[in-house]
Amino acid sequence: MKNKKNNAQYQLTNRFVKILLLLLIVINLAFIGISLISSYRYLNNQAAEIMNTLQEVPQDTSEWTTLVNATTAKDDEDAVRILLENGPMYYSKEGKEIFDKLAQGRALLLFPGIILSENKIYLYQKQEQAGRTVELAVHGTQIVELMVRMFLISLLLNILAIVIGSLVIYLFVGKWSKTLHQMTKEMSEIETDEKQDLHLSVPSSPNEFRQVATSFNHLLDMQRNATKRESQFVADASHELRTPLSAIRGHVQLIKRRGSQHPEVIGPSIDFIDKESKRLEILMNQLLALGRSTVEKPLSLISLSKVIQQTAEEFRRTSKQEVTLAIEPGIQMQIDELEIQQVCQNLFENAAKYSHASDTITITLTKIADKIRLSVADTGPGIPDDMKERIFERFYRIDHSRSSQVEGSGIGLSIVQSIVEKYHGAIQVRDNQPTGSIFQIDFPLK
Ligand code: ADP
Repeated sequence: MKNKKNNAQYQLTNRFVKILLLLLIVINLAFIGISLISSYRYLNNQAAEIMNTLQEVPQDTSEWTTLVNATTAKDDEDAVRILLENGPMYYSKEGKEIFDKLAQGRALLLFPGIILSENKIYLYQKQEQAGRTVELAVHGTQIVELMVRMFLISLLLNILAIVIGSLVIYLFVGKWSKTLHQMTKEMSEIETDEKQDLHLSVPSSPNEFRQVATSFNHLLDMQRNATKRESQFVADASHELRTPLSAIRGHVQLIKRRGSQHPEVIGPSIDFIDKESKRLEILMNQLLALGRSTVEKPLSLISLSKVIQQTAEEFRRTSKQEVTLAIEPGIQMQIDELEIQQVCQNLFENAAKYSHASDTITITLTKIADKIRLSVADTGPGIPDDMKERIFERFYRIDHSRSSQVEGSGIGLSIVQSIVEKYHGAIQVRDNQPTGSIFQIDFPLK
C-alpha cells in the first residue's frame, strides 16, 4: 500500500484531485454568495415597486381594500398592511394571518428585513408615506427554493466533474508513469546486460522523456566505448610488457642453465637483456606519460619558438637525415614545456625512424590567422590512407614498421594526440610530395 502511495501516478492524481476539489469549493461558495445576494436584491426590488405604486395613491381614496389586494395579486403569499393617520387599518387578502405569523418569525442578521417564519421566507419592509404607514411582506420562498435547486444541480455536476476529472487525470498520468516504469525496467536490464548491446527505447513523447532517453543512450555509448578502450588498453599494455619480459626471462634461464659450461652465451644474452630492459623502461615511461597528460596544472606563458628550436637543434645533431628548420621567432603559448618537448621528440623520432638516411626532415613553426601551426614533414615511405587515423590508436603499429624491426611500441602518437587535445589543438597527417608524410598540429591562438 505504501509502495502504491509512493508512485507518481497515485501522487499526481492525488494532488490534481485536491486542487480540483479546492477549486470547486471556491466556485460553489462564490455561486452561493452571488445567488443569495441576487435573490435578496430581487426581493428588495419587488418591495420597492409595490411601495412606489402605493405612494402614488391619493390620500383621500376610499378604495384601500381593492388597492391592497391588487398590489399583492401577483403572489398570494405577499401581504400589505396600511395604517391610515385617522385610524383605519387595511390588510390585503390573508394579510392579517401573514403579519401575525411574521410577528413570531426569526430575523436574519446578515440580510436586514428577511424573516423566517414556519419554513417560509419573507422580506419585511415598513415605510412612512404621506398620511399612512405602509408595511410589506414580500414572499421569497420560491426564489430561495429555486436557488437551492440550482445549487443542488450544480453540486451534482461538480461531483460528476470531480469523478470524471480524477479518472481522466489518473489515466493520463498513468500513461506517463507507464513510460517511466518501462524506462526503469529497461535500465535495470541494461545494468545486467552482458553483451552490452542493449539500449533504452526512446519514447516519441513527451519531449522531456525522449530527451532523457536519448541522453541516456548517448552516455551509455560513451561509457561503453570508454570501458572498451580501457580494457583494450590494459590488454595491449600487458601484452607489450609481457613480450620483452618473457624474452628477458628466457635469456636469464639460458645463462643459469648453460652459462657456466658455455660462457660464450653470457655476453650476447646480457646485451639482449640490456636492450629489452631499456625498451621496457621507455615503454613504462610512455605509459606513465599517457596517464599524466590528463592531469591539469597551472600554466605559464612560454616561448614556443625557443623550446621547439632547441629541441629541433638537439635532434638535428643526432639525426642521420638532413633536418631543415623554419621556425618563426617570438611565438608564445601557455603550455607545459615538458609536454611540448615530448610532442616534438615523438614526431621527430618517428620522422627519423620511418625514413631512410637519405631523406629530408623539415620542421616548421608558424602563426597563421588564429592558429599556431607546427609541422614535421619527411620524405620517407609515407602512410597509407586507411592507416592515417589508426596510427593514433594506442599500440597501433603499421605492419611494415613491425616487420622492418623498427623499435617502437605504438604509443608515441597517442601520447602526442592526447597532449594536443588537452590544449584544444588538432593533429592531422597528410601526404608529403612526392613521398613521405606531414604531421601537422594546430593550436588555437588565444
Ligand atoms: P611507434 O613509433 O612506437 O611504433 P607511434 O605511435 O609513434 O608508435 O607510431 C605509430 C605507427 O605510425 C608507427 O608504428 C608507424 O608505423 C607509423 N608512423 C608514425 N610516424 C610515421 C612516419 N613519419 N612515417 C611513416 N609511418 C609513421
